[in-house]
Amino acid sequence: PEAADLATDPGAGWDTPTSPDPGSRSGAGADADLATDLHQLRERRLYRRRRTLQGPQGAHVRLDGRDLLSFCSNDYLGLAGHPELARALQDASRRYGVGSGSAHLVIGHSEAHQRLEQALADFVGRPRALLFSTGYMANLGVLQALAGRGQRILADRLNHASLTDGARLSGARLLRYAHGDPQDLQRLLDDGDPRLIVTDGVFSMDGDLAPLRQLAALARARGARLMLDDAHGLGVLGAQGRGTLEHLGLDGIDSGTDGGIDAVPILIGTLGKAFGTFGAFVAGSDALIETLIQRARPYIYTTALPPALAEATCVALDIARREHWRRQRLRALTARFRAGAAELGLELGLADAHTPIQPLIAGDAGRALAWSRHLEQHGVLVTAIRPPTVPQGTARLRITFSAAHTEADVDRLLSLLAQLPSGPGGKTGDI
Ligand code: PMP
Repeated sequence: PEAADLATDPGAGWDTPTSPDPGSRSGAGADADLATDLHQLRERRLYRRRRTLQGPQGAHVRLDGRDLLSFCSNDYLGLAGHPELARALQDASRRYGVGSGSAHLVIGHSEAHQRLEQALADFVGRPRALLFSTGYMANLGVLQALAGRGQRILADRLNHASLTDGARLSGARLLRYAHGDPQDLQRLLDDGDPRLIVTDGVFSMDGDLAPLRQLAALARARGARLMLDDAHGLGVLGAQGRGTLEHLGLDGIDSGTDGGIDAVPILIGTLGKAFGTFGAFVAGSDALIETLIQRARPYIYTTALPPALAEATCVALDIARREHWRRQRLRALTARFRAGAAELGLELGLADAHTPIQPLIAGDAGRALAWSRHLEQHGVLVTAIRPPTVPQGTARLRITFSAAHTEADVDRLLSLLAQLPSGPGGKTGDI
């Protein structure tokens, strides 16, 4: 298609990238196949547009010169723009410089990384933790290091994409059980013992929790390792912020030996969400961590995190542990939203989930976009999440709360949701 076609696409005003179409600069015919594919994405309302913020993350963000109230980041505890973290990063960069210079195993591993790994291991009550540059890479690394050809990985159907990609990278056979359904997992177990069972703790697009107690029992009975990606639970759930395991009474720290590393030997956490910085870690036994150091390609063949960032993350972890009010506030705001949404008759994704991820299901991708646009026109930012990030027919607004929000912010969101075009609480009509 010509650039002109894109400009007349009925969805283009909302869905078109703000940068010039690269195809128009790259000579006639170059990458025409890619341009066709992009055009089709636009027509199906699945084109994803980057937005360019001016300023820090927070309850309020600056976008295209406007101040918008934002409900779409994973900055659950409100730490991403915290001045104490910014100061720690600045101070540490004077001590350690900016770049780490190389991979951990060459010369990139610093005492700052070591300190953070120790602090994270202490936080989750496990012998060791290992930093990865991102959560995506941690998941690729663990799966590739621990599973291989001829083995089976059983995974929840709604797991994060990085877990699916990691299973593929490993060469093992990936089989997926119905979301949150131990009985369906049992069905797959009838065909043989798997190497790994893999699940999100808090599902990233739905906000519900994995049935970890049942998964752990099945894993143990079949000699499989249970791998838990608690990217959205750590820092947020549990009185101490130790995540889904603490919330479910399964982290073995307060409850003696029932749970913890025996129940869930592989725990993944990310640092770019509740902890407000960047990076990720795997926590587990000494043997697990040493195996990852020796075998996990996404650990071995990439540049280490900037050490100053590790120092700033130590400060974030401290704040997250100490300032319980952040978790309490998050719970109160979520409860306020859920009560208000119920009063309005809004269809929240899952009725029983009380995490700060609250999806409002639109179904159709065009409708989710229309909702998002309506909110943005009224000064509120909630990104539409569409396939393939979520299954076909379940496009949604993924609303997320932060301890930096106020009750008035939640009320403002609710009052706008009450007037969504062609949606719950709103008038029906064309999109
Ligand atoms: N796991 C889950 C469940 C996630 O939601 C994400 C990020 N959205 C990741 C892993 C990847 O983490 P990172 O952004 O650090 O790569």
